[in-house]
Amino acid sequence: MATYKTIESSEITLSQLMLPSHSNFSGKIHGGYLLSLMDQIAFASASKFSGSYCVTASVDRVDFLNPIEVGELVTLKASVNFVGTTSMMVGIRVDAQNIQTGIIKHCNSSYFTMIAKDESGSTLPVPRLRLISREQVMRYLKAAERISARKQRIASEPFNGDLAAALAFMASDHADVDVKGLST
Ligand code: GDP
Repeated sequence: MATYKTIESSEITLSQLMLPSHSNFSGKIHGGYLLSLMDQIAFASASKFSGSYCVTASVDRVDFLNPIEVGELVTLKASVNFVGTTSMMVGIRVDAQNIQTGIIKHCNSSYFTMIAKDESGSTLPVPRLRLISREQVMRYLKAAERISARKQRIASEPFNGDLAAALAFMASDHADVDVKGLST
C-alpha cells in the first residue's frame, strides 16, 4: 500500500546573512557558495519528505539572474515538486533582501533531482505525492515537462565517442564554434 505525503512535508526555508568571506574578488557572493547552499537545502527537503538520506543525481540549470551583495539576507525556499519511484525533483527559489531598503530581488530558481538511499547505498522507494492546490499541480506538470525534455536531450546526444560524427554535427549545428584545428 503506497504512502502519500503532501508537499508541505517537504518544505524547508533557510535564511542567511551574506558575509565578506563568501564574496569573490568583485565583492559579489560567490556562485559556488550559493550552489552549495542550494545543494544543502535540496538534500534537507528530499530527506525530510522521503524519510531517508538522499544524494544529488542532477541539477536542472542554474541561471544567476541577479548578483548577491555582501550584507544581503539570502532566503532559499525548497519543496518537492515531483516524485518518481526513487527520485524526487526539488524546486529551489533564492531571493536576496537588502537589509536597509527592504527590497527583495529574485536571484535564481533551480530544480535538483535527488535519489533516496539506504545505509548500504541501495535506492529506496519514496512516498507518492498528494497535491492539494493549483500551484502544486502546475509545478508538478512543469517538472514532468522538464524531465521529458531532459530525456529527449539525452536520447539525441550526438557524441558517442565518434569524433568525425561529432565534428560533422558541430559544423552543421554549432557553426559558431571553431574546431578547425581538430582532426579525426
Ligand atoms: P516556479 O517553480 O515556476 O513556481 O518558480 P519559483 O521561482 O517561484 O519557485 C521555484 C521553486 O522553489 C518552486 O517550484 C518550489 O519548489 C520552490 N518554492 C517557491 N516558493 C516557495 C515557498 O514559498 N516555500 C517553499 N518551501 N518552496 C518554495
